[in-house]
Amino acid sequence: MAFEGLADKLSAAFKRLKSKGKLNEADVKEAMREVRLALLEADVNYKVAKDFTNTVSERAIGSEVMESLTPAQMVIKIVNEELTALMGGSDAKIASASSPPTILMLCGLQGAGKTTHAGKLAVMLKNKGHRPLLVACDIYRPAAIKQLQVVGEKAGVPVFEMGTANPVEICKAAIRHAKDYGNDMVLIDTAGRLQIDEVLMNELKDIKNTISPHEILLVVDSMTGQEAVNVAKTFDELLNITGVILTKLDGDTRGGAALSVRAVTGKPIKFVGTGEKLQDLEVFHPDRMASRILGMGDVLTLIEDAQSKLDQKAAEKTAQKLMQNKFDFNDLLDQLVQVKKMGPLKSVLSKMPGMEKQLKDVDIDDREMDRIAAIILSMTPEERGKPSLINPSRKRRMAAGSGMKVEDVNRLLKQLEQMQKLMKQLKGRGKRRFPGMGMP
Ligand code: GDP
Repeated sequence: MAFEGLADKLSAAFKRLKSKGKLNEADVKEAMREVRLALLEADVNYKVAKDFTNTVSERAIGSEVMESLTPAQMVIKIVNEELTALMGGSDAKIASASSPPTILMLCGLQGAGKTTHAGKLAVMLKNKGHRPLLVACDIYRPAAIKQLQVVGEKAGVPVFEMGTANPVEICKAAIRHAKDYGNDMVLIDTAGRLQIDEVLMNELKDIKNTISPHEILLVVDSMTGQEAVNVAKTFDELLNITGVILTKLDGDTRGGAALSVRAVTGKPIKFVGTGEKLQDLEVFHPDRMASRILGMGDVLTLIEDAQSKLDQKAAEKTAQKLMQNKFDFNDLLDQLVQVKKMGPLKSVLSKMPGMEKQLKDVDIDDREMDRIAAIILSMTPEERGKPSLINPSRKRRMAAGSGMKVEDVNRLLKQLEQMQKLMKQLKGRGKRRFPGMGMP
């Protein structure tokens, strides 16, 4: 995940600051020197890093901070606020046309993740009740149209294509099509090149001037660091982009692009890509990203993920069953399916305060959940509801059926038993202990 090294170094610098108690100007300057080095090592643009630490120093070396009871905490608070401001302050919204369709034009270099992110955006918009249309405008690579069609099929979103016709004509026809078929969002996947070249830029300008998109979103690969920032600067100068989609943040350990794009181009990061799957797209929240960098976690994103990806009714049913001590293997299986929807466990846990750092060198094997599910699936529905029916010969059959050992089956049975015992004890302590949990 992004910002690993930066988070470690900032935390070391702040630890030293905290150990000092009262601070003087030299202490703050020394800490800011460390912060600046950490930013530069994270591949943050030099001027951005310098301006950042100067601003923090100026704010911190005021009597209010130095004389407060917890000066180091005050400095961290200022760093948090300035990191948020650096990445754009409040969340950037997607424009919406007063008369549909809203036209979003995606551009960027080849391999940055344009096609993938056109699909991810389409899924996100569809989940919000929109009717997006994907438009294939990369007429130069024969495989590009096919790739968008595959993405569209996975996303369950229609794809408009006209083969290798002129891209401007394709766009005009696509917008007419969208009006005719009630698509309120048109997402145009434009052609990319390995490097910025004049022919491509002229084509993009032609499209822009003809169809006046409401958003021109530049897709850049965060793993290319400062190069991504340079690409953003050039595209912005030529096309006046409205925002950036920063991709592959899952593979970017430094995070320099995320921290510099806004300051260098003045344009906000609107979305970040965090994986290859279509649901791996997050709205970019500068404040939450700052919290993550400072090891404070990102509980809000976690809650939103849970709200959007989990089945609320199923969760309520489970809570009730737990309370009534009727939780069995059928419920555990449901739970495993739900938890898997949230993505890899490590990524879920790392959004909790303080966990990202602790989990750095920990390997969490998501297959453990699959193993448990395999054992449960090898039970009959009756056995899942009433595990006491499972005799030794059934245990051997189940172990063989799920590719596990009899000890594994025994361990799982024991775990459910212990959980049921625990719930019984808790229930015995009185209903008042669980206010607001829908107790009868
Ligand atoms: P395009 O040439 O700009 O259209 O790029 P593609 O959409 O074809 O993406 C290039 C490669 O990057 C593909 O292999 C994608 O699966 C991969 N990719 C795209 N976005 C992400 C992301 O957010 N995370 C990761 N890990 N891979 C991504």
